Amino acid sequence: MSLAHLVLFAGLLSLVIVASSSSSSPGSRSILRDISGENADQKDRAVELNSSNFDSVLRDTPAKYAVVEFFAHWCPACRNYKPHYEKVARLFNGPDAIHPGIVLMTRVDCAMKTNTKLCDRFSVSHYPMLFWGPPSKFVSGSGEPKKEKSEIVVIDDARTAERLLKWINKQTHSSYGLDDKKFENEHVRTNITDYKQISQAVYDIEEATAEAFDIILSNKVIKSSETSASFIRFIQLLAAHHASRRCRKGAAEILVNYDDLCPSGKCSYESSGGKDTLGSFPICGKDLPRGYYMFCRGSRNDTRGFSCGLWVLFHSLSVRIEDGESHFAFSTICDFVNNFFMCDECRLHFNDMCLSVKTPFKKVRDFVLWVWSTHNKVNERLMKDEASLGSGDPEFPKIIWPPRALCPSCYLSSDEKSIEWDHDNVYKFLKSYYGPKLVSLYKEKSVVGSKEETVSATAEDLTVATNALVVPVGAALAIAVASCAFGALACYWRTQQKNRKPRRSWN
Ligand code: FAD
Repeated sequence: MSLAHLVLFAGLLSLVIVASSSSSSPGSRSILRDISGENADQKDRAVELNSSNFDSVLRDTPAKYAVVEFFAHWCPACRNYKPHYEKVARLFNGPDAIHPGIVLMTRVDCAMKTNTKLCDRFSVSHYPMLFWGPPSKFVSGSGEPKKEKSEIVVIDDARTAERLLKWINKQTHSSYGLDDKKFENEHVRTNITDYKQISQAVYDIEEATAEAFDIILSNKVIKSSETSASFIRFIQLLAAHHASRRCRKGAAEILVNYDDLCPSGKCSYESSGGKDTLGSFPICGKDLPRGYYMFCRGSRNDTRGFSCGLWVLFHSLSVRIEDGESHFAFSTICDFVNNFFMCDECRLHFNDMCLSVKTPFKKVRDFVLWVWSTHNKVNERLMKDEASLGSGDPEFPKIIWPPRALCPSCYLSSDEKSIEWDHDNVYKFLKSYYGPKLVSLYKEKSVVGSKEETVSATAEDLTVATNALVVPVGAALAIAVASCAFGALACYWRTQQKNRKPRRSWN
């Protein structure tokens, strides 16, 4: 056994001890967040870009096309144009987007000195000036809008919302209307048997992660050493195994700074005297596009979304861990749901299922199958509840999953009434579905990005995607962050990490 593995083992052992001691007594919280968001209508929907976030936002967006409006805040015509632009942006951007994931609508204020070079890069000659193209083509590109073959073009007739949308419709061969109603859109896919759809879910788990973090912060639920330890363990799991690179980075940065942000497990939530708070470290980066639940998009405003994204996050974490971490991951997720998923019914039921596990998991296979079967138990219960109450999403009825059409080899018999699973094949299917399939789309994009990106050494050390490297570092980090009581060596290591911390955001 190598030193790294010993460190890993010690880290996990200690964390499991802390985990089990803090485990799972149901409290009395019952705050369910209104995920539709208050005052949603008053917010700008076009995404404000500047020289520091321009490339990262356009590189990471799931949208197929982008519109970039270059304007100047002093320009009266730009001010008058803003309501028109926002009218169109509301269709495509934000949590209430009617047609999400198609066009990212953005703006850049060229009157800001910091943006001068960026506006020069696109030879902006008047305000407002609008460009259209695939998002990735804007990234560190010269724009070259006048070149015939360039994929970035100037939108020449966009004086009103109607004209801009007409222009977009022409490019996308669509017929979007300014009066389109929420969720009456063709992008809600009810065919859950399409194997390829999972590739979109990486954006959903990013969003669910950010949403979970927002809920924790807005309800200020880290307030004891127990909740603090549970939070740290979950963040550690994310830092090592989240399917999204930017969430791994964000989680790692929180871990490195945790002692300062939450001394003795007491987090300060409101910033005072310019001091950083937990909120200063957005878990998946500050430029994460929001409102892109796609795999998890319901046909109604009040269905699916966050809770679906959370399930997909748990499944995607389960298939990424190693055997030795399986019980740690189990207790971490159980405690996370118990402490931070503020739906009392969900929490209590889930906690019962956690408590029914009497023997610690030793194999990742057992843990993956436990999450799967637990989810199916919830599906089975909800199938009945939703049928009698009519509270489910009519386009996404609960089913025992995966359906035969998605994984024929998961079934041993053809009897629909009493399903017999081939657990080896179910495991294989889950590993692939929530593993490489889930990130297939994302990977392509990050390959483009990684060429230009210079990521700090610390971030890379902590978040290298290969388990061989990341797990020992992650475990050591957890030992150090969880408490310096683990020994002088851990403290020394942690100090070293902090000294190496870059003074910049991860994105
Ligand atoms: P979800 O059930 O959210 O599933 C999301 C996606 O996962 C599905 O579209 C499917 O592609 C895939 N999937 C489905 N089943 C499985 C499986 N067995 N294994 C792997 N992948 C699968 N709601 C309640 O009303 N009462 C509860 O007690 C409750 N408990 C919950 C506990 C937890 C931990 C969570 C995260 C959610 C809970 N919910 C509960 C919410 C509920 O489970 C659904 O998330 C919600 O109703 C939205 O359903 P959905 O159609 O989006 O599919």
